[in-house]
Amino acid sequence: MRTTTTKKTEYLGEEAAAVIRAIVPSKMTAAVLYGSEDLRIEKIDVPSVAADEVLLRVRLALTDGTDLKVWQRGYHARMIQPPAVFGHEVVGEIASVGKRVDARWRIGLRVVAANSAPCLRCYHCRRAQENLCEDLLFNNGAYAEYLRIPGRIVMENMLEVPHSVDDGSAALVEPLACVLGFTRSCAAFGRDGYHQCQRRCRSGGRREGTH
Ligand SMILES: [Zn+2]
Repeated sequence: MRTTTTKKTEYLGEEAAAVIRAIVPSKMTAAVLYGSEDLRIEKIDVPSVAADEVLLRVRLALTDGTDLKVWQRGYHARMIQPPAVFGHEVVGEIASVGKRVDARWRIGLRVVAANSAPCLRCYHCRRAQENLCEDLLFNNGAYAEYLRIPGRIVMENMLEVPHSVDDGSAALVEPLACVLGFTRSCAAFGRDGYHQCQRRCRSGGRREGTH
């Protein structure tokens, strides 16, 4: 019985991959940020991918506090300058891969991709402080049918989603990572750090370098 189930799952995976490969269109619907509270739904080109990049077919995208602030302000100094595709918490399945992408990233695979990746070369990265990276690469465009994942994010911050994790939970990986990183930083500073964190949380503050 177990063998039958496994074969069925593998078959459906291949079938889904074939369908995804066949249906990547040239145009897609996307939310484009033009400025303060100016978000427009438009038909734009599906991004093409370079040799080290991946194209994701978006299954689900979430909205967090940063998205709300960016929408209100119309920009984010480091993350996004309009006009630009918008949204960054996303789960999707791989729709196409560049020629130099590692073979483990197969078409049809369900993945989460973070919206940033560190350079791993600067002063802070070499001291395991990647959140303070001087050349952090950001990616936006989750509020669209397809999303291009830059090579650095494919290499450093893209994860396969296990079958047991649903789309809604998977798309929460980025905010969960922020919470875990924040909690770890608080713990590192002992009791004083804990109380400082409590005060910052109550006032809505966030750790420098997170978003
Ligand atoms: Zn860096």
